[in-house]
Amino acid sequence: MTPVTLRFHGPLNDFLAPERRGVDFPHPLRGPCSVKDLIESLGPPHPEVDRVLVDGQAVDFSHRVADGQRIDVYPPGHAPEGMTGVRVGLPAPPELRFLLDVGLGRLAPLLRMLGFDTVWRNDFADDVLARRSRDEQRILLTRDLGVLKRSEVVHGYFPRETDPSRQLSEVARRYGLVPRMRPFTRCLSCNTPLADASPDEVRGRVPERVLATFSRFQHCPGCQRVFWAGSHHERMRTLIDSLREV
Ligand SMILES: [Zn+2]
Repeated sequence: MTPVTLRFHGPLNDFLAPERRGVDFPHPLRGPCSVKDLIESLGPPHPEVDRVLVDGQAVDFSHRVADGQRIDVYPPGHAPEGMTGVRVGLPAPPELRFLLDVGLGRLAPLLRMLGFDTVWRNDFADDVLARRSRDEQRILLTRDLGVLKRSEVVHGYFPRETDPSRQLSEVARRYGLVPRMRPFTRCLSCNTPLADASPDEVRGRVPERVLATFSRFQHCPGCQRVFWAGSHHERMRTLIDSLREV
């Protein structure tokens, strides 16, 4: 039996054992399998794969791998120019909405700060996350590869960074968020779109010194929080400006 030869491209290498990164490597087949199962058994989750070439021909995930075949696996944006044929990766949904797993609780308010509809709860079970991302066409962000490899997941990404600000920058690059963001339009706590409010409308709900200093407020119809452009706002502005420079 001749082993298959594999080559993973771009950031898909992050999921491989170090000696397999950026090189062709042989892999013996242990029985019939789809190219999707073969790819995932080596590390990369299927939502991060955009194209698969077998002996130079684009195939879909159900392709049955045969001994001796050469398999090239590409993430979005890394396929050779002019490549045609089947794409296994679907374009991101027209409206970018996110679903975050329990481990990304500090990234959720940052995506909401940019105005993106972002669902996060600290008690989502894996099957709920996978199903909900499919049913609501939300991009699933998780650092749990097991969740990302569930078959229901269509759009998903594994943030490589662990710091929330760096994760925001990484996700912004991956999905082209900067031109589509609408900063400070969504509640950081509960994800509800914010409404403008006058000082009179928020009187009694913010400190008097704040009422005396600011003339513009926003109110969350979901959790009743009030927001204004205070010092925390300045730090967020700096973070948003840094995204624009990337
Ligand atoms: Zn709220």
